[in-house]
Amino acid sequence: MDDRERIRAAWAACYLDPMQAIALGRTVADNGGDLAAEGWLHVALGEVRVGDVKQALRALEQARRLYGPAGDRRGLALCDEVKAIQLRRLGDGTSALRLLADIDARGDLGYTDCDRFLALNSRAITYKQLGRVDEALRDFYGAVEAAQACGLEGPRITALTNLGGYHKDLYNLDGARNYSEEALRAAREARAPVAIAAAAVNLIITYHACGQFPESRAMAGYLLDYEGELLPGALQRHHLPLALAHLGVGELDTAQQYLDRAVGAAAADGDHPGMWAWLQARCLLARGGAARARQVAEHALQERAAQPRADGHYEHMQLLNVCADACEALGDTTAALARVRQAHGIYEELVGRSARARYTALQASHELAQAQRERDIARDSHRSVEHDRRRLVQLNQALQAQVQETEMLHLRLREQALRDPLTGLHNRRYLFEMAPGLLDLARRQAAPLCVVLIDLDHFKLLNDTYGHHAGDAVLQRFASLLAQMLRRSDVVCRHGGEEFVAVMPDIDADGAQTMLTRLLQAYQSQQQDVGRRKLPSCSFSAGIALFPTHGSSLEQLLSRADRALYSAKARGRARIEKMPMTDFGTLN
Ligand code: GH3
Ligand code: MG
Ligand code: MG
Repeated sequence: MDDRERIRAAWAACYLDPMQAIALGRTVADNGGDLAAEGWLHVALGEVRVGDVKQALRALEQARRLYGPAGDRRGLALCDEVKAIQLRRLGDGTSALRLLADIDARGDLGYTDCDRFLALNSRAITYKQLGRVDEALRDFYGAVEAAQACGLEGPRITALTNLGGYHKDLYNLDGARNYSEEALRAAREARAPVAIAAAAVNLIITYHACGQFPESRAMAGYLLDYEGELLPGALQRHHLPLALAHLGVGELDTAQQYLDRAVGAAAADGDHPGMWAWLQARCLLARGGAARARQVAEHALQERAAQPRADGHYEHMQLLNVCADACEALGDTTAALARVRQAHGIYEELVGRSARARYTALQASHELAQAQRERDIARDSHRSVEHDRRRLVQLNQALQAQVQETEMLHLRLREQALRDPLTGLHNRRYLFEMAPGLLDLARRQAAPLCVVLIDLDHFKLLNDTYGHHAGDAVLQRFASLLAQMLRRSDVVCRHGGEEFVAVMPDIDADGAQTMLTRLLQAYQSQQQDVGRRKLPSCSFSAGIALFPTHGSSLEQLLSRADRALYSAKARGRARIEKMPMTDFGTLN
């Protein structure tokens, strides 16, 4: 796993298994690579979740220290996001919201879908804490969409759980049940105990509120199955829902045990304000302790009146109901009626909220679906434009490669057509293609040019004595000597058999003769062997014709050179003859 994969795994884990996310983040941070800052960020996020504020702050400081000098806007904003989560967790929703507004005001932060989920989820919970229902719902739905977009199960399960939980708070029980059941299914598939517990708690309360008491009780059993895999102290926070589940099916002793254990656990009541008193009063009443039940309920109601809260309406209503039941049992029907009326008022308020929640939820999901559709269309069209562009580039490249290959092939074929395969020298065809241009140039520059015809001496004998193969080797060796010793500007070709032609620009007959003499000497002194067999030394004869003195076309010059060659052969071979001036007139 490389650091990039570790960060992705940390994103996936931070909502389901914060300890693992911390470990992954720390590894990346310790590796000290490009992603070290992001590693620290995950350590901070995980520690916030686990509740270790000190560790979280230290990690956040490290992340900031790396993001800061790089001017990483996204990184610094994410550090603030984590800070806001911490403020909210410490109960300071107002400061958290101020910090979040601050982040938003900076605009265009380059958030990824994972970042967006983190931000929206945090905003939603903060709004929820502050009782700002519409904004909370909007962002909870936004978080679901962002979670889906980022493609990670952790965020998706968290988003669904939170949305289900909030619908439960808003008394929209259908919504609560649907989202929480979906969250539970996903959490079970992901084998994530923390998420299973959160969804199960939501469902315990939701089923209970719907009058589905056995289902509520079943969820409690489910929650306990995962007890060993929860974070330390986590079950403590679930004691009240567990008591509720048992109470619903009349298991009073177990319910009471949970309530006893929840007493004094302020955190437990923090999640469900008024719930302990409501359940305790219900237990007492069920056991015939109406007076004590009324006392517990009245006390809690007074506390609530002294410290009004934006949340906990459902628990408030239940407190009023149990209080009314206790009063009735005690024969105080007037007090009972007053409590029933109050409870009814809250019920109407809850139903009103629920209706509004349904409406807002519908609107939010409609808008999100629309946004998602537009984004999908934009993404698709971007993708198809990008695809077309890439395809075009590919086609162009393929075409270019093909053109190049064809050109290469063409060149090769041309080369092949113009070269002699045995010696690699140019052939007669090339000579006749090139010569007119060379003659033309010489004419325009009034420069001399020689055409030389070379014929190897006694070659037939060599062939007959040593074989055709030896003949071939001698031809090849002579060809490379020719190419090596003549000038680059000379056009040398195999004219056929053991005859060669050189067209030599910018040289007169004497110059050409000197050069050829040198070539002859080199050739004669060359060691000729084929395999292990040594051959006698070879020679050639050559005839030189001079342009324009001996002719104005290649054909004329070749025929004069041939005459000179003939003369060289006649004079004993191994000679270079110039076309004598005197012969010129008679030959024409
Ligand atoms: P001379 O000194 O008068 O030129 O005698 P010569 O034997 O070279 O005379 P001739 O031109 O009659 O012989 C040329 C021989 O070259 C005949 C032919 O068998 C041989 N020859 C032509 N092309 C090739 C080839 O590609 N490979 C080989 N090994 N021999 C070839
Ligand atoms: Mg010959
Ligand atoms: Mg010959």
